[in-house]
Amino acid sequence: MISASMPVPPGFAITAFAYEKFIEETRIAQKIYEIIKETVTDTNDPKQYDAASKKIRELIEKTQMPKTIEEAIRSAYKELNKRLNLKDTFVAVRSSATAEDLPDASFAGQQETFLNTKGIDDLLDKTRKCWSSLFTPRAIFYRNEKGFPHEKVFISVGVQKMVNSRAAGVMFTINPVTGDREEIMIEGNYGLGETVVSGIVNPDDFLLDKKTLNIKSRRIANKTIMYLRDPATGKTVHLDVPEAKRKEFCISEDEVMRLGQHAKLIEEHYGKPMDIEWAIDQDLPFPKNMFIVQARPETVWSGKTMETASGEEKKTGEQLKVVVKGLAAGKRGYGFGVAKVVLSPEDASVQMQKGDVLVTDMTNPDFVPFMKIASAIVTDKGGVTSHAAIVSRELAIPCIVGTETATKVMVTGKQYTVDSRNGIVYEGFLADAAKPTQQTAAGKAEVVMMGAAPVTATKIYMNLGVPDKINDFMDLPFEGIGLMRTEFILASYIGEHPMHFVDTGESQRFVDKLADGVAQVARAIQPRPVVVRFSDFKTNEYRELKGGDKYEIVEQNPMLGWRGCSRYISKWYIQAFKLECQAIKKCRIEWGLKNVYVMLPMVRTVWEVKKCLEIMREEGLERGKDFKVWFMAETPSIAIMADEFSKLCDGFSIGSNDMTQGILMIDRDSERLGAMGYFDERDPAVKRIIAHLIKIAHANGCTVSICGEGPSNLPDFAEFLVRQGIDSISVNNDAITSTKNLVASLEQKIILERLAEQAALASGKPLKKPTQDWEWPQ
Ligand code: PEP
Ligand code: MG
Repeated sequence: MISASMPVPPGFAITAFAYEKFIEETRIAQKIYEIIKETVTDTNDPKQYDAASKKIRELIEKTQMPKTIEEAIRSAYKELNKRLNLKDTFVAVRSSATAEDLPDASFAGQQETFLNTKGIDDLLDKTRKCWSSLFTPRAIFYRNEKGFPHEKVFISVGVQKMVNSRAAGVMFTINPVTGDREEIMIEGNYGLGETVVSGIVNPDDFLLDKKTLNIKSRRIANKTIMYLRDPATGKTVHLDVPEAKRKEFCISEDEVMRLGQHAKLIEEHYGKPMDIEWAIDQDLPFPKNMFIVQARPETVWSGKTMETASGEEKKTGEQLKVVVKGLAAGKRGYGFGVAKVVLSPEDASVQMQKGDVLVTDMTNPDFVPFMKIASAIVTDKGGVTSHAAIVSRELAIPCIVGTETATKVMVTGKQYTVDSRNGIVYEGFLADAAKPTQQTAAGKAEVVMMGAAPVTATKIYMNLGVPDKINDFMDLPFEGIGLMRTEFILASYIGEHPMHFVDTGESQRFVDKLADGVAQVARAIQPRPVVVRFSDFKTNEYRELKGGDKYEIVEQNPMLGWRGCSRYISKWYIQAFKLECQAIKKCRIEWGLKNVYVMLPMVRTVWEVKKCLEIMREEGLERGKDFKVWFMAETPSIAIMADEFSKLCDGFSIGSNDMTQGILMIDRDSERLGAMGYFDERDPAVKRIIAHLIKIAHANGCTVSICGEGPSNLPDFAEFLVRQGIDSISVNNDAITSTKNLVASLEQKIILERLAEQAALASGKPLKKPTQDWEWPQ
């Protein structure tokens, strides 16, 4: 890029030849390849890749570098310092494998980059680490998969002066969503580009016409977090973006234009669509402040889909082969990418790359990091209330669940289009997938500001799974979080079994982490309430957590087993439940977050819930004016005995997922029954029980909410609930605005109907109301 006159930060390269010389002269080359051969005997076992990687990386990092290479690096760094007139320049140390970024195989991101490196010792250390990153588990797996001989891949190291970035991001010389080559997409955030590359924030984006560089569209994202370099230590610090700057574009129009020009020239230089990282230095004036820090071929749309993107190979649904069908879930729309059939999170950690289609048996909370980078998700098992369905919806990713056979018929490395409106997976690229849809990306969803939304007497709450997603949804018109699942925080932030913390004397660390996750949301939305549900892992899911197999039994029916309250009062979990209580107390008492309420899941009997409340009281959590305790209504028993339970809580929240399962006695995860239409919250038996619960709870002074998936998916079910006088409805982020509008119109309709009824009564001709199928016989 320097030779193409691109503004690249000054620096130097430690060539691939230097690496080759290092492994040859020190005679470790042969050892490296032998380790792979001996350790990876089963190419599908991620643990073997991990083991090989560990051994090789240790070998490379511990081997002394030949003097000649060390001297060359020393003098190049000295020269750079001299050129910049600085003592020890902060540099970025980036690796680049020689087989990286071949047109049909992006190896990008498999080797490591180290920012803010300073001083020669640190630089030498990071150089060795870059070299050894040629053998990350992912990289070894990829070369095996693509058939690249390990002996033929080398690695060079780029050393560049760190840009002191004010704003940074990525740009594509092709529209990354539709594959249109006439467009350039620029994405950016304040500070270092890492927040954009890793997907931590929703960046601002600009879509440019490649010919004229006119801006065709632009979107401001609510940018809450930025990473900056601390000038004293050189360390990256994470900061909140000041309120006033969050809703301003992070770069000016002139800067957008200049980036567009660079993007065009880079594409011309390489002769193919490119994926580019850029940064704007805060210490320099425009246009000298614009830097290109990395460029590589774009691989999702290029290569195999070149023709597709230019319009020749686009096919309609009739022309493409249907590979598998299932239940539509997640974001309704299309996902397109290369499939990765991964049967465990470890497997996913080795194989999954950004933009891949994740194909698995069923996801669990440990899959979330890989779900975040997937273009679509397809599972064999599960129904519309399964983990994959719930989380993909929150992450705004197309998803199909319950296909029964996806992991057998979809093939790793092949491209597919996932149509999550109709629950169909096609082989290849479906033309419709390229059309812009009405669906918007996560976080940029149906943003109707609080003030612009209609007022409803029935409160509309939001279900939240992944705590850091709250920043994306702040502007939606919800009145609180009606369900925050503790187990999602446990899995994404903590990853270890709670009892493992107890047994290793690290209870406080668990409390702190859990409290952090809850507080992040409670702070962001206060004074709106956050109803935190104590953990409701099932035995099969808890076992997946670190140390989990020691504490979890194997159950035939985990859905009907040791979950919810039955855990808290048992000798095998009580200590951990106490820690969950302490985390809530920490939020409320230490941090003053009085908007944190709690909810007990899987309540089956009065006696067990009394015991739970007693433990909570001992831990300093007692119901009061500003501390509400809700029970989830997920079992037939709690609804049937609602009068008794009402004496012990402030309100109920209907878990219609489990309630439907319990009333109809169907495993909610059964893909077979799901596909046959059995799982339906609108079944008269389910409605009858819900109507009964609302009536009895209200008669006994308790409120009723609902947090199952039902009202998010089924507007007629939401209507039924409003007509029964439910107090609040908690739905997924993408259903907030539509539910709010629906409820507002319904409430007005109900008032009009009541007026008509009264008028008819007064005129002596009372209206005859049809009996509903779910009503109890008189
Ligand atoms: C429910 O059962 O409806 C519910 C919201 O809880 P979960 O889906 O986590 O079991
Ligand atoms: Mg439930």
